[in-house]
Amino acid sequence: QENVFQKIVAHSKEYGFVFPSSEIYGGLQAVYDYGPNGAALKKNIKDYWWAAMVQMHPNIVGIDSSIFMDSQVWKASGHVDAFNDPLVDNKDSKKRYRADVLLEDHIAKYQAKIDKEVTKGRKRFGDDFDEAQFLETNPNVLRNKKKIEEIEGRMKEALENEDMAALKQLIEDCEIACPISGTKNWTDVRQFNLMFSTELGAVSGDAAKIYLRPETAQGIFVNFLNVMNTSRLRPPFGIAQIGKAFRNEIVARQFIFRMREFEQMEMQFFVKPGTEMEWYEYWKDLRMKWHHLVGNKDNYIFHDHLKTAHYANAAVDIEFKFPFGTKELEGIHSRTDFDLGAHQELSGRKLQYFDNDMNQNVVPYVIETSVGLDRMFLSVLAGAYTEETVQDGEKTKERTYLKFHPALAPVKAAIFPLTKKDGLPAKASEVMQELQYDFNITYEEKDAIGKRYTRQDLVGTPYCITVDHQTLEDNTVTVRERDTMEQFRMPISELHAFIGEKVSL
Ligand code: ATP
Repeated sequence: QENVFQKIVAHSKEYGFVFPSSEIYGGLQAVYDYGPNGAALKKNIKDYWWAAMVQMHPNIVGIDSSIFMDSQVWKASGHVDAFNDPLVDNKDSKKRYRADVLLEDHIAKYQAKIDKEVTKGRKRFGDDFDEAQFLETNPNVLRNKKKIEEIEGRMKEALENEDMAALKQLIEDCEIACPISGTKNWTDVRQFNLMFSTELGAVSGDAAKIYLRPETAQGIFVNFLNVMNTSRLRPPFGIAQIGKAFRNEIVARQFIFRMREFEQMEMQFFVKPGTEMEWYEYWKDLRMKWHHLVGNKDNYIFHDHLKTAHYANAAVDIEFKFPFGTKELEGIHSRTDFDLGAHQELSGRKLQYFDNDMNQNVVPYVIETSVGLDRMFLSVLAGAYTEETVQDGEKTKERTYLKFHPALAPVKAAIFPLTKKDGLPAKASEVMQELQYDFNITYEEKDAIGKRYTRQDLVGTPYCITVDHQTLEDNTVTVRERDTMEQFRMPISELHAFIGEKVSL
């Protein structure tokens, strides 16, 4: 699996999806640039989200708020005081770790041991294998399960109580039992604020200190009144936005999974207090369906948070089976009136609506759906990356392709004149003009057709359209499908409707 991940990272670079930032200077850690295919894929994901959230919901409107905001915003939201990660250094290797991430790696190690036992059990018992019973009775499984429970329990307690000494002790214990870092020499664990700060204007000092927003949500909360009043909406209604967020992440790894500059797609849904759990369930269900429409259902799971953050009364993650483990892709949180309440208090402005049933002004409750655009990109890419063995006449050969849902594919179709002669390129240009106003189309005339197919497979183009001599006679072309590699002829006049249908959701 790790190997597949390395291949995906290499593939991203080779085929113009993702490049390390400032690469000619050695690359900037945890910052990435999107190449031509990456930018197109990213835009398609954004469009898919915006269409599903804003366009399809008459009671959700979109905004685009700024990255810089008054520092008080982050005081009220709790980010100045509490947006911290526990950090610990390994004194020998000088490597820096996020304490909770290191502990999660330990948990993953025990989980891997359990998975290995299950695989062994399945092999041994064949059809008679009862996984549920095996998990309840196998002594090795039980031992590892107990270890996981112990680490999770101690970690949760230490984090909740902000007991950094207990966290350090837990790391030391874990590293003795089953070393990951290969050393026992740790610094104390300390809290590290993840916000980037800078200074506004020419004045220096605390007065001018501002932050690069660590989430887009607060831009929505501070615009609550403006949006409600100008769009004439009353709860239940939502405000959506897509935008950059910045976090000075301690551990920079796993490619675009954890970045220092990234994009979020967030929606805050304002509801009448007391109705939040119904809406929470509604959004939980809808957001999972949204992922299922473009990805393999087996790759997504819900992970309920039993203990929620200070601002929430219910929280769940939609996790994706990334090649390096099952990890958070999207968070759905019932945030109560925490944010609006805090801004109301600090700003002195009433952030309320008049509730007719209750006959009074109320601060609404909020259900939030928050998905990282780059993380979504990685999940789409990982889900699409396919290696398979195919029959090529007598021989078998390996084929790698990106099985994107056509709606997300960066390029929808490639147009090939069979040869560069006999007026075929001119005819191919005509076909291109029929399509390029509505779809992202590419044109290629170099190399043999087989090679051109391979190149398009590698970037996930769902359809290749070849213009040949027969086209000049009867205005039909050959359409080749990426996934099945099947080819069939189709009149040029039907291409637009065909592609239109395939790329819609
Ligand atoms: P994590 O536990 O992975 O640090 P989080 O719980 O802090 O994430 P939220 O604050 O809930 O994340 O942010 C919402 C979403 O934004 C996440 O589900 C994720 O998709 C995305 N996200 C958060 N941090 C990053 C990051 N550093 N790089 C890329 N995407 C991120």
